[in-house]
Amino acid sequence: MIRLPEITWYKSKSQIARVMTETWTGENIFCPNCGNYISEYENNRPVADFYCWNCNEEFELKSKKSKSLWNIIPDWAYGKMIERLESATNPSFFFLTYTPNREVSNFLVIPKHFIQPKNIIKAPRILKDRWEYIMCNISLMWIPESGKIFYIKNGEYKSEKNILDTWKKTIFLQDTKNIQTKGWLLDIMNCIDSIKDDNFTLDDMYGFAPQLQILHPENNFVHDKIRQQLQILRDKWYIEFVSRWKYRKL
Ligand SMILES: [Zn+2]
Repeated sequence: MIRLPEITWYKSKSQIARVMTETWTGENIFCPNCGNYISEYENNRPVADFYCWNCNEEFELKSKKSKSLWNIIPDWAYGKMIERLESATNPSFFFLTYTPNREVSNFLVIPKHFIQPKNIIKAPRILKDRWEYIMCNISLMWIPESGKIFYIKNGEYKSEKNILDTWKKTIFLQDTKNIQTKGWLLDIMNCIDSIKDDNFTLDDMYGFAPQLQILHPENNFVHDKIRQQLQILRDKWYIEFVSRWKYRKL
């Protein structure tokens, strides 16, 4: 059983929750990019909570008392989040869920290159007396499975090698700066996810054309685009070409 430390020296529930989740994360979680220990920023920095002293990756921790994973995470100012997505200093997200008796049920990282503007949704919460009053939620919908890298799933640890390998597998997305280009790649990765078998055909992929057309109404050549994206994913070792029009997930 994996348990968060008991914090007794604070009265406020939100402070207790913050300190126990941050303390545990700092002591137990390694950097998914290089495997080194991560450190906590002193003071409450608005940008990130943790960083890796070895490779400079930054992470923001979101935690919730909840047994299962959730799809919507309340975050702060909408405008700032959108701005951050376009900047080089955007952190990746750690998500932690725990039970009422402090058992860790899930811990995962979502690499920063998987977060798109469409994952940031305006929330109907208003903070008075703040110049930036529109808050936002982060939605985990549209994030492919390869972008949800679990350290702990349903109370069980995953191997360190698995975590580091999964992170490396999609690091090529970091170089895709254009949001539209990246959107296409992520959509195609989502389509591949929804095929249960590891092997699939071009026809299977063409089956997603109507949905992709809705997501990309400006594109009149969806079939060409699908083939082009599959080639990119092959070049990046995300899938392999088995034979003509046949592919396999890697
Ligand atoms: Zn690192």
